[in-house]
Amino acid sequence: MYVEVALPLYIFQTFTYLVPKEIEIDVQVGCRCLVPFGKRSMVGYIVALHDEIDTEIESIKELLVIIDEEPIIIVEVLELTRWISDYYYAPWGESIKAALPAAINAAVEVTISVTEAGREQLNSLDASRIERSTKWKVLEQMASNKNLKSLEKDFQKSRLSSITRELEQTGLIQVEHQLEQKTRTKKQAAVRLNPNFTIEEYITKESQELSTNQKRVMDYLAASATAPFLTELLDGLNISVSVIRTLEKRGLVEIFFQNVRRNPLAHMEQPALMPTLSLTDAQAEALEQIVTAIFAEEYATFLLHGVTGSGKTEIYLRAMRAAIEIGKTALMLVPEIALTPVFSRRLCEHFGESVAILHSSLSEGERFDEWQRIYRGEAKVVIGTRSAVFAPIRNLGLIVVDEEHETSYKQDEVPRYNGRDSAIMRALKAQAVVILGSATPSLETYHNAYLKKYQYISLPERVAKRPLAKVEVVDMREVFRRHGKMQIFADELIEAIKEVQAKGEQSIVLLNRRGFSAFVICRSCGQSIRCRDCAVTLTYHREASRLICHYCNYQIGVPQACPNCKGPYIYYMGEGTEQLEAKIKELFPENKIARLDRDTTRRKGSFEKILGEFADGLIEILVGTQMIAKGHDFPNVTLVGVVSVDAGLSMPDFRSAERTFQLLTQVAGRAGRGNSPGRVIIQTYHPDHYSLQHACKQDYLAFYQQEINFRRSLYYPPFSVLVNIIIKHKELSQAQAQAAELAKQLRTASGDDRTIRILGPATAPLARLRAEHRLQILIKARSRTRAREILDLAMNSLSYNQQDLSSINIEVDPIDLM
Ligand code: ADP
Ligand code: ZN
Repeated sequence: MYVEVALPLYIFQTFTYLVPKEIEIDVQVGCRCLVPFGKRSMVGYIVALHDEIDTEIESIKELLVIIDEEPIIIVEVLELTRWISDYYYAPWGESIKAALPAAINAAVEVTISVTEAGREQLNSLDASRIERSTKWKVLEQMASNKNLKSLEKDFQKSRLSSITRELEQTGLIQVEHQLEQKTRTKKQAAVRLNPNFTIEEYITKESQELSTNQKRVMDYLAASATAPFLTELLDGLNISVSVIRTLEKRGLVEIFFQNVRRNPLAHMEQPALMPTLSLTDAQAEALEQIVTAIFAEEYATFLLHGVTGSGKTEIYLRAMRAAIEIGKTALMLVPEIALTPVFSRRLCEHFGESVAILHSSLSEGERFDEWQRIYRGEAKVVIGTRSAVFAPIRNLGLIVVDEEHETSYKQDEVPRYNGRDSAIMRALKAQAVVILGSATPSLETYHNAYLKKYQYISLPERVAKRPLAKVEVVDMREVFRRHGKMQIFADELIEAIKEVQAKGEQSIVLLNRRGFSAFVICRSCGQSIRCRDCAVTLTYHREASRLICHYCNYQIGVPQACPNCKGPYIYYMGEGTEQLEAKIKELFPENKIARLDRDTTRRKGSFEKILGEFADGLIEILVGTQMIAKGHDFPNVTLVGVVSVDAGLSMPDFRSAERTFQLLTQVAGRAGRGNSPGRVIIQTYHPDHYSLQHACKQDYLAFYQQEINFRRSLYYPPFSVLVNIIIKHKELSQAQAQAAELAKQLRTASGDDRTIRILGPATAPLARLRAEHRLQILIKARSRTRAREILDLAMNSLSYNQQDLSSINIEVDPIDLM
């Protein structure tokens, strides 16, 4: 028997191994195994079994160990990873690795023991002979229990591994491979009455004089339905552990280990029970269509296009319940961790213990436990971010993708998949229903609905006919003229905040840049201070008193003089949220003000704390980045001010108008969700831009029509398939050479096919990042299959010429071209 194994390496092929007869019975597709690869051994994933193969037997190595008794990758997920590796041009093994929680990806540890023969050999040698030979020196070290890692410090690595092999082959040492599991199921000591005793025996035993404390323990245990944890018992009765130990010695109680679930929701306050809502007509109609599809148990995708505040959440919840009712399960993807506390709370309210949560800010242990609960079938509803699309949940009836247009669904490292599109593929294979929900669907999704690939459901009105917020644009050029200098806040915005505060309502002020100042410029030489490794300016953070690179986190202290010309006139330009907060505090000294951005939410739980205080009215004005723009529901917020949208509009990217439109619509959606109407004020130097104009009227359709024409005329998605290739290297000349070669191969492969355009190589918009130079090649193709063929041909010829492919990032369906 042979197995085909995918390895988690940047290699675009699988490998075949021979299965030793005695472990054939244990081999299953979806299990991990240990295999020799080059000079080391590695954990790989079994993706297929074969009875025979074409290659010559001699060249085939034997598999070493099967790690899992049961397949750890369920068939459905294995198929999904295969699709991802084809579609997104990523190695299969890397895709599988990404599908498993990090804690499960075990490391291999090599242990070496010197055999009896090895010890005899050492004893027969005198010290000077050992001293002269590296081989004997190594053996001597091994005999004194040095492990390989520490030996690597004293001996050359390649020499060491060849000696190790020789010693093993001559029987002087034994090499064993062991898996080192980083995270295990958590166990905790618990106490129970000795189960081998009858009640009568207890009574006689107990009559043997027990101390007061011992008696209290016995009474407590007799009265508890489940065995308490040891720590809980000690704390509860305020006794020392010796009391329990004595009882244990006398055979009255037993200390044992119990599995503990690390519950990510354990510290969450119990949700207030929501009154059961009666659905609006529009909600009821939407739900009806979706539920019919769920009951049909066939694949279907719906675009639920509902304006902000139209009550999409209620539809998700009821659709999930419908799936559970017919014995199926449901998966819900959300774009950001930020949104999960709210949703998870509501899900728990509806589905109790059968909810599992998967997202990256869980601790490794929590994640591991949640994953196990799903794997064992204990969770019927899973909620999580992007990678939850790989949850080992069986029998799926429904997948919800909330805020489907969000860029955070795209992973920006290998495998570079989109969680939304992968969810649709997973649903197709599982014959499940998908709901894509958004107030501002991505152009691609809306276009697919237009083409009838997705069923379109619209919720054009807010619940209870609440009006959408009124959006006003303030022309900052005008404000500049009025004051004769730059202003952070227009008078209109300041007035509006005053009014809102006077009424006891709340406001949000948003700016998409954290820190205090965007640039630090020297007035003498005109140079701005830039990151050492990236082609961007450093941002001044006043609280931390540092200049920080927002791409790689490189930091320096605040310079007293210009590092370039030593001039003393350092000048800070452009504002960030830190400065905004300071200014607002100055303008509104009476009000309670807080800031929400990556800097203030670094500590675990601080995000929830700030949002909680805002919801409770303890904070009156909230300043922050787009983190505050999404998904939250604060009924008392009646004003949102956007300090500047111009940075977003001037990005060199074909999606910049779409992004800006989405952001503004989402922001506007935060205002006026309660009974008072909302107001949105947007400050800009480009008041005539079409994405601002349509966002003001909150007219998605008008925006779509204008934008889709732009995409058509420039041959951008959805009218073409894009593949963005970034070639990176520390040496510019190397990057240039490789990019030129790749572009040449791509052009050769595409021949005179006029449906394909190869653009570049050109300097990437981010010309340098993390000390690497970046060049860009863009493929625009009409057909996905053709794009893939060309890419395959070009990449194959590069690897045929022994080029290092790891410096080439391939991104299929890129979310931006930066
Ligand atoms: P969306 O996700 O579409 O922006 P939400 O689902 O957050 O909207 O709903 C907006 C608000 O309306 C929430 O406070 C929600 O509790 C409320 N809501 C939803 N459906 C109903 C209903 N049928 N009746 C009354 N209130 C509702
Ligand atoms: Zn940097």
